[in-house]
Amino acid sequence: MDAPRNGGIPDMSRSFTRFASDRQLQAVYSVMRLLADDDRQRGTLVDSCVWCAACRRDRAAAGAVTYDGILLCNGCATEYEVLHIAGIVAQPHEFLAQGTVAATAG
Ligand SMILES: [Zn+2]
Repeated sequence: MDAPRNGGIPDMSRSFTRFASDRQLQAVYSVMRLLADDDRQRGTLVDSCVWCAACRRDRAAAGAVTYDGILLCNGCATEYEVLHIAGIVAQPHEFLAQGTVAATAG
């Protein structure tokens, strides 16, 4: 498995190709998992919660990512990255507007 080696976190704001390859998807998933693991290992965010702008719930702060001032939980950030590299959404704002993850009842 070829994990990204240049410091771990690729520049995800750069435009990718218009479709996502399996490699790209795997890279996204592994990077997002690393972010969460990293936060948990540091211990500072273990019990913290953040309010996710996408799923509109309190979620674990570990692995949460801020895009352009929009805070997404780890799960939503992963989903955003996947849609982003697939060329389906260009901006976090579009991701929120789509409401793809907000539908879960609860
Ligand atoms: Zn979320």
